Amino acid sequence: YDGRGFTYVARPGRVVFGTGTLAQLPAEVDALGASRALILSTPQQRGQAEAVAQLLGARAVGIFDGAAMHTPVEVTQTALAVLGDIKADVLVAIGGGSTTGLGKALALRTDLPQVVLPTTYAGSEMTPILGETEGGVKRTQSSDRVLPEVVIYDVALTLGLPVAMSVTSGLNAIAHAVEALYAQNANPVVDLMALEAIGAISAALPVIVREPGNGQARSQALYGAWLCGICLGAVGMALHHKLCHTLGGSFGLPHAETHTVILPHALAYNAPAIPGVMARLARVLGPDPARALFTLAAEGGVPTSLAALGMPGDGLDRATALALANPYWNPRALEAAPLRALLARAQAGAPPM
Ligand code: NAD
Repeated sequence: YDGRGFTYVARPGRVVFGTGTLAQLPAEVDALGASRALILSTPQQRGQAEAVAQLLGARAVGIFDGAAMHTPVEVTQTALAVLGDIKADVLVAIGGGSTTGLGKALALRTDLPQVVLPTTYAGSEMTPILGETEGGVKRTQSSDRVLPEVVIYDVALTLGLPVAMSVTSGLNAIAHAVEALYAQNANPVVDLMALEAIGAISAALPVIVREPGNGQARSQALYGAWLCGICLGAVGMALHHKLCHTLGGSFGLPHAETHTVILPHALAYNAPAIPGVMARLARVLGPDPARALFTLAAEGGVPTSLAALGMPGDGLDRATALALANPYWNPRALEAAPLRALLARAQAGAPPM
């Protein structure tokens, strides 16, 4: 602890963590005093939603499998109609950030309690943040109304997360923790969680790449993802998240993959302004933290260039201008030329510098 003053806000929420914890879902629903669950998933995870319905038995009154990336308001409206028809009194979301987002959007409008079963490392289940899209425009808000009441982390649900998604989702999680360390409202509790989480996920990912079904590594990764989610929900994010939101929102680049490409470069950009944070990161990532993050992605076999994600080469000037407009607070001043150079390196897949 460096002696600086701080404000720390703890958020409510019950977390059940382990392997096989899905079995506790019926008891958790009962404990909420609920008896009519609407289960949420993406179309791809319909099978897992059906397994949850079977486990819940008579407590399950419906499945809505229309969750989609960026929480489109039209999808939420459709789900709201289903909710009303079946008179659900609890939402059970199984999936990644997209499914959690739908549950949060429904909770915002109905105040129904939520039980979330995360299957990626995105961490949305730990935050009061909801991003929704309407007419192609994404709007983000923060409200305690969207915080899930119960989160059941079951490592078994993540064993089948494909390797590439595990790597990009894991680096997406690490990005929350990295930016938490240099947040304007950083605090010592969140620092502890951030460093622990970065250590756990960065150690787990290479094992998962070699052996996707390794329970110990999967457990470490999910544990780290939980902590990273708390970091994201507790303090402000900076340049890295601004760049990713710009690239996702204005160029349609995929969420976790974009985080993976940008993170080493955003950290390298900020490094001169945050020597203390770099020294702490070096303890968990090795002497060159930005390079270590780049290597985690490269050795994980996932794209390390924006070009590979479909970013048009002639979009870099516009991306720079957008990142400079309404910037988030950042430890190093944002300047057009070095920012443009950062994006050019990310576009080409060059190592961070
Ligand atoms: P996702 O939820 O969009 O999932 C991507 C795809 O992988 C989906 O088809 C999903 O069904 C599938 N999938 C998920 N888990 C799987 C598993 N275990 N096995 C096989 N397939 C699986 O991706 P994500 O990265 O988890 O979430 C991204 C979204 O979440 C973005 O829209 C992002 O903005 C949002 N998000 C929000 C917050 C927040 O705090 N509000 C935080 C992080 C992410």
